[in-house]
Amino acid sequence: MDMNENKRRRSMLVYILIAIVAYLAVSQALGSGLNAARVTTVDYSEFVDMVEKDEVTQATSVYGNPEISFTTGEGDDQKLYSTVLYNGTEQSTAELLEQHDVKMVSQIQDTSGDLWLMLLVSYGLPILVFLGIGWWLNRRMKKAMGDDGPSMNFGGGFGGGGLGKSNAKEIKGEETGVTFKDVAGQDEAKESLQEIVSFLKNPDKYTEIGARCPRGALLVGPPGTGKTLLAKAVAGEAGVTFFQIAGSAFVEMFVGRGAAKVRDLFKQANEKAPCIIFIDEIDAVGKRRDTSLSSNDEREQTLNQLLSEMDGFDNHKGIVVLAATNRPETLDQALLRPGRFDRRIPVELPDLAGREAILKIHADDVKMEPGIDLGIIARSTPGASGADLANIINEAALRAVRLGRRRVTQEDLLESVDVVIAGEKKKSTVLSPHEKEVVSYHETGHAIVAAMQKGSAPVSKITIVPRTSGALGFTMQVEEDEHFLTTRQEAKDKIAVLCGGRAAEELIFDEMTTGASNDIEKATQLARAMVTQYGMSDKFGMVQLGQPASRYLGGGQQLTCSEGTAQEIDAEVQALVEEGHQSALTTLRENRFKLHEIAHYLQKKETITGEEFMNILTRDDGFAPKMPTPAE
Ligand code: ADP
Ligand code: MG
Ligand code: ZN
Repeated sequence: MDMNENKRRRSMLVYILIAIVAYLAVSQALGSGLNAARVTTVDYSEFVDMVEKDEVTQATSVYGNPEISFTTGEGDDQKLYSTVLYNGTEQSTAELLEQHDVKMVSQIQDTSGDLWLMLLVSYGLPILVFLGIGWWLNRRMKKAMGDDGPSMNFGGGFGGGGLGKSNAKEIKGEETGVTFKDVAGQDEAKESLQEIVSFLKNPDKYTEIGARCPRGALLVGPPGTGKTLLAKAVAGEAGVTFFQIAGSAFVEMFVGRGAAKVRDLFKQANEKAPCIIFIDEIDAVGKRRDTSLSSNDEREQTLNQLLSEMDGFDNHKGIVVLAATNRPETLDQALLRPGRFDRRIPVELPDLAGREAILKIHADDVKMEPGIDLGIIARSTPGASGADLANIINEAALRAVRLGRRRVTQEDLLESVDVVIAGEKKKSTVLSPHEKEVVSYHETGHAIVAAMQKGSAPVSKITIVPRTSGALGFTMQVEEDEHFLTTRQEAKDKIAVLCGGRAAEELIFDEMTTGASNDIEKATQLARAMVTQYGMSDKFGMVQLGQPASRYLGGGQQLTCSEGTAQEIDAEVQALVEEGHQSALTTLRENRFKLHEIAHYLQKKETITGEEFMNILTRDDGFAPKMPTPAE
């Protein structure tokens, strides 16, 4: 349960409590009136007795009615009685009342009217007040929680407008104006979506021939790869209305309300067809239904409603449901059945060409100096998503403004890559001279081990400027071009590079620092994946022992083996990392002099380029290592 829901529940409880207290107070107040209004019927002789004892204060008779209603006492003590006159005693009764100074009131109309009024006052008023409070709360809650807030249902159907009421205004269709041109890379995804576009443009063509038209497609991929953008582009390309709603918006506090929203959404879409319904982050509602105790009734009902709407809608008109998620593995199987989201469109992280194209699209929106090389930016950002790249361009533009320039320069771009990858430069962190020396050796250690490896990407930059992310420095390697397979040797080399920082510290200072924690994490992760997923260990061979918890969101791994094996895996992982560690130590020992020289140079300059680094490393002064022949 998220925070918001918690808050809602709590305020709900408060409202209900207030309502109960208010009701009790009102009924209590009216209750005393109620007692006073209770009429006691007495015999005529009793009435005469009371008059003679001077207890009676007022008597009321209705013309032509033998009944007399009378009161005793005054104010709070007042009591109401009624009696029927003894036949033929009207005269004497009147005289008796007069003798005892009783106030005599006569009426023409039936007192039963009064009785009704009394009943209304004694019973009707509290009910009215109660309903009124209910109505008031209903309105308040709606206001307080925005229009999609739940409404309360008090008593027999009162406030019937609440439950299941359509939220017509909140889901608004729009023309997106986005087209495929605005989405760079993602050619496969665009191709798969092209068919949906042409169906939306001309649904008749499809129905004439009897083709079963696509009803839904699921866009899956890591965050920021352009899923939402693609969905909008489909609507824009086809020129149809775009209904967007987040999956989480369906998950309501009251069972049945989410389902009502789904119904409403499809009803509206039906009116606007052809159109696109886009459900973003569908995993919020489409999670696998299960039998666990914590299952969520509301979510399941909503999901069921969604499923039945998807089966039921009249597809001749051209309604296509697109949905996006980065956790496809959690989705309910029923959603993926043919006729629902049977089409799965992967939206992957962009490759080198894709990254450059995305950079270009966003670069067109800002003023740039001529001759900017976006290729180098694309090459320094493997693993970046479209959103990251858009962010890099924006950061560069911000930097240009900050420095009082009117155009973005290459340097702005390079600097913003660092910002997006490693965080903003942190000016407030002041390292002591010794710490600075340690960090210099650490980073140089990484760089030298990387340079001495055959297939490693060349070092492009080394810096010891602290970053807001907490990094005290970093060594950047940029691949010349992309490769999609990693060999076992390359994976081992990578581990060695990651161990290079700590190895340098050990070698030079004979001590360890906390600076290597991130390296250790990455090295261990890689080694573990080699053993459990890539089948690269001698011991286990090609057996899958674990799987990633989430394909697109990264994060841990789930072991799929027995406990005993888990222990052996740990040993194997440890051996792999240790092998890398030893190899790094050997490399650095052999190049000790270069390590000193470069580290001191780095300490002085704080940031050096890959070129400067290679110049020193390969300068022929008798210590230059024999460089590996570059891999082809
Ligand atoms: P997702 O929905 O997959 O998390 P979005 O579609 O919201 O990602 O993308 C966020 C932003 O990143 C977009 O608004 C756009 O500026 C940028 N972006 C992402 N992918 C691309 C792409 N392929 N081409 C152009 N811009 C992209
Ligand atoms: Mg999105
Ligand atoms: Zn490091």
